[in-house]
Amino acid sequence: MEYKAQQINQIKSVYDMISLKGKVAVITGGAGGIARAVSVGLAELGANIALIDIPPAEKELERNCQFLAEKYGVETIGVVGDVSDETSVLNAFAEIEEKLGTVDIVFSNAGITCAGMDDANITMDTWKKMLDVNLTGMLLVDRAGAEMMKKHGHGGAIINTASMSAHAINRRPIMTSQPGYATSKAGVMQLTKALAISYAPYGIRVNSISPGYVMSGLHNSMSQENLEYSVSTVPLKRFADLQEVVGAVVYLASDMSTYCIGTDLVFDGGYTLW
Ligand code: NAD
Repeated sequence: MEYKAQQINQIKSVYDMISLKGKVAVITGGAGGIARAVSVGLAELGANIALIDIPPAEKELERNCQFLAEKYGVETIGVVGDVSDETSVLNAFAEIEEKLGTVDIVFSNAGITCAGMDDANITMDTWKKMLDVNLTGMLLVDRAGAEMMKKHGHGGAIINTASMSAHAINRRPIMTSQPGYATSKAGVMQLTKALAISYAPYGIRVNSISPGYVMSGLHNSMSQENLEYSVSTVPLKRFADLQEVVGAVVYLASDMSTYCIGTDLVFDGGYTLW
């Protein structure tokens, strides 16, 4: 091995490193807010897009796929699939393989909250549902994606959506401490690190993102009082727009981050600094 630093004329173009031309990206929770923004970013950089979500999201998937295909000239498919069900995940990936050839990028992003039901007295049904979707779902999707990359003999990038709630307990006017959500998201971070080690030998990079409050469908059931209180707890005094998630995912999905594995990228308007 020769240890020698690159010369200035050997540094690659940043545009080449960020390009996703011809890649296939799978996004779970594909009809949701964060997926909507990230799918635009990945398609604009040239990736073909597969969106996975559960019923009744079929129409939304179709609309989003049509928009991306028309605007960016990429191939798109919407697939109905439940990330918490192994057979459903495997069927979804088989359909994507059949229609788009393989998978290079997996944005494992589907997640739920159970507003009002997530406190220390959480029922076992709610607890299990939360862990099934938010944590087991990540394992099933990441594994299906990595196995497909291995089968086709290429590497890839997997990005899991954790949360600032993996790092801190969210403050609320009514003190529900969200043990189900917070535990599931903390689990996502550790799962990410473990899978990063498992798949590193295959050139498959696994990382996670931890957004703070992002205005999306996840907040539909929050009262005005709760929304305003939550904003007041963020040092930047606002929620993030959906598009503010795109850069983090693009960085981890592209060759901009080829030395980055098992890391968690926090962008939370300063929430976890308090
Ligand atoms: P969203 O509710 O708009 O989107 C979530 C999507 O996941 C929905 O379309 C939903 O139908 C889908 N989904 C739910 N269960 C599923 C399942 N079993 N299989 C497949 N799809 C399923 O919310 P969002 O903000 O876009 O959330 C995306 C991810 O970001 C989630 O993991 C969430 O926990 C995480 N997150 C969100 C915020 C935020 O403030 N919005 C902050 C941190 C992390």
